[in-house]
Amino acid sequence: MVYDGPVLDNHFHLNRRGLFLDAARGFKQAGGTDVVLVHCPDFSAPPETYDGHREAYADTLAMAQSVRTEVELGVRVVLGPHPAAFAHQFERWVAEEGQSGRERAVQNYRHSIDAALHFVHEGQAHAIGEVGRPHWPVSDEIWDLSNELLEETMHLAAQEGIPLQLHVEGESASTYPDLAQRAVRQGMDLLKLVRHYSPPDVRSENTHGLTPSVLCGKGAIERLLETHEAARNGFFLETDYMDDPRRPGAVLGPKTVPKRTRQLLEGGMAEEVLWHTHHDLPMKVYGALEDV
Ligand SMILES: [Zn+2]
Repeated sequence: MVYDGPVLDNHFHLNRRGLFLDAARGFKQAGGTDVVLVHCPDFSAPPETYDGHREAYADTLAMAQSVRTEVELGVRVVLGPHPAAFAHQFERWVAEEGQSGRERAVQNYRHSIDAALHFVHEGQAHAIGEVGRPHWPVSDEIWDLSNELLEETMHLAAQEGIPLQLHVEGESASTYPDLAQRAVRQGMDLLKLVRHYSPPDVRSENTHGLTPSVLCGKGAIERLLETHEAARNGFFLETDYMDDPRRPGAVLGPKTVPKRTRQLLEGGMAEEVLWHTHHDLPMKVYGALEDV
């Protein structure tokens, strides 16, 4: 089975203290051609100021540039405030400062979005993310505030035509319809609302018009083969590779998307479907690489 098209991992992190360029090289050796590099905050000390966010994003952009020049992969960049970082700051600052801590956390979220927007406007970043809501049980207050800020970001994305990569709670029946409803209310084109860490059932009746980015563990193959024909937007494949030295190979290793692409072909998926996943869909959602 010969497939000579591109192979894109839609959610990939790099860490200078992890394998860094060697992870990108491993992906390339396995057959990969493009990564969507998603900013990962330093969870032990996420930025607390606008300038701090700018600096942290600038480092992700510098890593992207190294991957382009030293490994020769196509790289698109996604910058934004991780919902976990926001929730932890909120909890800590409210405990320390009460109401003003709440305001401080909201303001810091907005600074983080503004700093990302700056780089999108400069043409250095292609999307905002990962934004969303915590993936563990939280108080109603944090849940409601996370949703409020998410909708604010959806509104901005709609106005500016910017794609969002979403990080949301684990699967529940209400997750997709709830996100779709909020995004439609804010005027978003749902194609540009990409759900990272998506389960492999990609039927539109399940995804409600969002674009799923499927975490492609072993079990995902069969379900993708069964459901992809009913996916109106198509689907992305991703590893959520963390490049975390304490959890090597988590969430999935850097060679996984090329491997699953071959397995999908062997399982009977048409080449044109894979061209769509790895080329047409990224063009539609993020635009061309040359736009950077
Ligand atoms: Zn991630």
